[in-house]
Amino acid sequence: MPINKSKFWDEVLETQSREQLEENQLKDLQEIVQFAYDHAPYYKRSFDEAGVKPSDIKTLKDIEKFPFINKKTQRETQGVGSFLGELCAVPEDDVVFISTSSGSTGVPTISPFTAKDFDEFQETEARWFWQVGMRPNDRYVHALNFSLYVGGPDVIGAQRTGALCIWGGTLPSERLLWVLKTYKPTVIWTSPSYAWQLGEKALKSGIDPKKDLNIKKIIVAGELGGSIDATRKAIEDIWGAEVYDFYGLSDIFGACAAMCEYKDGLHIAENHILVETVDPQTGEVLPPGSKGEFVFTTLRKHARPLIRFRTGDIGWIDQTKCKCGRTHGRIHVLGRKDDMFIVSAVNVFPSDVEAGIRSINEVTGEYLIRIYEENFTCRFAVEIEKKAGITLSDDEVAAIVTKSLKARLGVKPAKVVVHPDGGLNTRSEHKSKRIIDERTTNVQ
Ligand SMILES: [Zn+2]
Repeated sequence: MPINKSKFWDEVLETQSREQLEENQLKDLQEIVQFAYDHAPYYKRSFDEAGVKPSDIKTLKDIEKFPFINKKTQRETQGVGSFLGELCAVPEDDVVFISTSSGSTGVPTISPFTAKDFDEFQETEARWFWQVGMRPNDRYVHALNFSLYVGGPDVIGAQRTGALCIWGGTLPSERLLWVLKTYKPTVIWTSPSYAWQLGEKALKSGIDPKKDLNIKKIIVAGELGGSIDATRKAIEDIWGAEVYDFYGLSDIFGACAAMCEYKDGLHIAENHILVETVDPQTGEVLPPGSKGEFVFTTLRKHARPLIRFRTGDIGWIDQTKCKCGRTHGRIHVLGRKDDMFIVSAVNVFPSDVEAGIRSINEVTGEYLIRIYEENFTCRFAVEIEKKAGITLSDDEVAAIVTKSLKARLGVKPAKVVVHPDGGLNTRSEHKSKRIIDERTTNVQ
């Protein structure tokens, strides 16, 4: 393998002009829409019903004429015709890998890959690892679930950089700490809540991550924490390491977007994904930079092309050139459409509540949000932990939390419940459950 001295994994691709990038996107879009129409029964039917044809695509904007699909479309077409379903555009013989979603919002959906899809997936992962500075002299622990999860095989992309890779998977934390202590890896990928908890566990068992371990970079994904400055900083402080957020969709790749050294949003692989932002209620297309629901069209995945897939994720995209020199747009993810709630006509994202809580010195950062209705009105309560050693009363801590959240969100919680340090049962080794929605109607 020739030695890559560049800060870019693929300099031509990553720094090409917007014009060139969009020209390539258009070529790929025309090809994939035609391919989907010719080979996936669902697209043939839905395009015909909507009165659109692949040849209607003359510019990137022409995609807006095509119908949306969503998770429900995936579930309804899965298993129809073949087990891969009607969105699949290749025969099963051409499929070499499938992953499934976690099923956290219903029946798990399958994501199939051809050999070429899989190769390009790993090439994209290698690009992200390189982007955060992983090099052949690094040692990397892939502490992600390998069972059915699309993030598992990303370790193959990590190996492409030349780094030494350890296939950790979901090891119990004592065993993982042993790996970190014994093999002294420099890079690890896990979820943000687990990165934080593992750091705390290490400290409790007499290991100081800063002194006794050698982790320099932590990649996080799967939850929003890595894009929340205060959460990232809290993890960085425990580990004495840089934290980078990655964003993925099981329906596309393990990671579709990743932070660079400037950490101002996540560069998305625009050579693979055409990004639109739409009004989450009406579906109206919004100009780039507006806050809305991301709609992705995969440009190069042939096993199961996704044409105008509504992700359910809310955010915005910045397509100006980044200080790092990369031209692919940067997405800023605010949260899931389903997690957003409305209090006194203000849109509240749990990620904003988290950012508010993690910026308060008197609390540990663990929290629980309870959304409920009272007198036909939506309210929310926040439960937090007072840090050990804080001499303020619970009422005083609650007042600090209320004031801080009001300043950040524009609305205040109806209640703040103060627990002692360690009193909340929200610490988990997987995705933490921190939102409880007790509403029985759609009250807002
Ligand atoms: Zn950048």
